[in-house]
Amino acid sequence: MSSEQELPDPIRRLLRNVGHEHETPRARRIFTNRDLDFEQVPVVGFDMDYTLARYRQAELEAISLETTVDKLVVQGWPRVLYEVQPDPEFAIRGLVVDKLRGNLLKMDRHGYVGRVYHGRTMLERSQRKSIYRSQRIGGERARFSYVDTLFSLPEVTLYAAVVDLIDSQPQAWGPGGPPDYATAWTAVRAAIDEAHQDDSIKSRIKANVAAYFDKDPDLAPTLHKLRSAGKKLFLLTNSLFPYTNTVMSYILGGEDDAYEDWTSYFDWCVVGSRKPGFFTDTEPFWEIDIATGRKSTKPIATPSKGRVYEGGNQMGLQRALGVSPDEILYVGDHIYGDIVQSKKTSGWRTLLIADELEREMPVRDDYHVALEEILTLSELWERLSEEVSDQRYLQRGLELLVPAEISREYHAQAQPLTEAQSAALLDQIRTRARERLKRLRAHEDSVADYVKQRSVEVDRAFNRYWGSVFAERYDSSFFGAQLEEYACLYTSRVSNFLFVSPHRYFRAPHGAMPHWSL
Ligand code: IMP
Ligand code: MG
Repeated sequence: MSSEQELPDPIRRLLRNVGHEHETPRARRIFTNRDLDFEQVPVVGFDMDYTLARYRQAELEAISLETTVDKLVVQGWPRVLYEVQPDPEFAIRGLVVDKLRGNLLKMDRHGYVGRVYHGRTMLERSQRKSIYRSQRIGGERARFSYVDTLFSLPEVTLYAAVVDLIDSQPQAWGPGGPPDYATAWTAVRAAIDEAHQDDSIKSRIKANVAAYFDKDPDLAPTLHKLRSAGKKLFLLTNSLFPYTNTVMSYILGGEDDAYEDWTSYFDWCVVGSRKPGFFTDTEPFWEIDIATGRKSTKPIATPSKGRVYEGGNQMGLQRALGVSPDEILYVGDHIYGDIVQSKKTSGWRTLLIADELEREMPVRDDYHVALEEILTLSELWERLSEEVSDQRYLQRGLELLVPAEISREYHAQAQPLTEAQSAALLDQIRTRARERLKRLRAHEDSVADYVKQRSVEVDRAFNRYWGSVFAERYDSSFFGAQLEEYACLYTSRVSNFLFVSPHRYFRAPHGAMPHWSL
């Protein structure tokens, strides 16, 4: 028997369940930050937007921009902003907005600023250093805003255009003049927030769902596979029922006759959940009548299986699920609302959906030689610069030495050195040290130049403005580090579970502390 088709049914099913991750493209794998025994996880929860439901980014950005500009134009902002086009490459997750200066920043894992754009103009290294020095961005929460969901990308694109317009055509705002950068940010944020809440965006999506989502044919089989393995599933989304109903009906509609409608894929459904508040507050659950969409008049303490609820809180859901927190895996795309907050307060295990992996992994494959080179040579560069600083220290010491000190050292010996001989000896040692330092510096410079040049090349392949979402300055980016710290697992889309066994023991690569290396 050669092909899987020829095998008896039970064996074929078993083989499928064992998983065939080795045959899976790397971009579709599930990556592990912290060990997780999936067999010991009887409950799996899912967020909806950008998790189960995969938006077409450019299409969503286009309507987000248009509806946001509508609101700003009503307030007297220039109509020329309608010309701003979606640019999913310019705005990426993990950026930080410096509202005070109209800048966009990308930070490394320690919070040091690696790249800066003012509007859409990249700042030179010296400008960047003079503003942000080598300080961590932290404390000033009111000044900085974090871009931690894909919903935020259009506001970043729009804000950059607004900053450029404030600089180049302040008269466009009329006699009152333009807002300052911080006020402009607040106005853009408020306008897009309103566009999400007042149905400006959602009514357009609901009118033509198919245009805004990539329907994943593997999604229904994935949920079915998890259920067949005995896992209980729940939906936990901030979207309200009417929108959730439209989107879920589209992405799971007509996929499997065994399921009456999308709600039957889940044991519990919570909409309008107000994450991250869901994980910390005590909002009650309100039952939704699926037929009418109406909310119950009385609050409900603990949700029951097979119904749909609005609001709620983590403790109540936890009680209903009847398992301990570490037996729940929650799958979401929002690094803060879904992952950081749930990990910190609920103790649930977490999986972050990062669809950027599907764009970045092929680049990583194409450039694997260059990436290895950058890694090795940047370590060499670090060692060389340590040695250069040691040698500079030595040289400064040598410059301070006077020949008399050398003569004194040799005073008690059989053939004491004269002052002139000491001066010559010192000169010789200084020359040798200077030459050594010069050689080391040249070596350091050439390694640094090469690493920088290779990095520019690789960065451009990832994203011509920012490089990889996950990396900065030869290390993880701030976003990458948050992902490492808070997400137990990460992957590009929910249906990647189709390739792994529901009993998989996910094992994390073990990291080494600096002092462990030989
Ligand atoms: P999720 O299902 O938990 O991912 O929640 C996503 C929901 O949040 C969607 O209904 C979005 O329209 C909504 N949303 C995203 N960004 C904003 C915002 O800035 N203000 C209000 N709602 C938002
Ligand atoms: Mg989401």
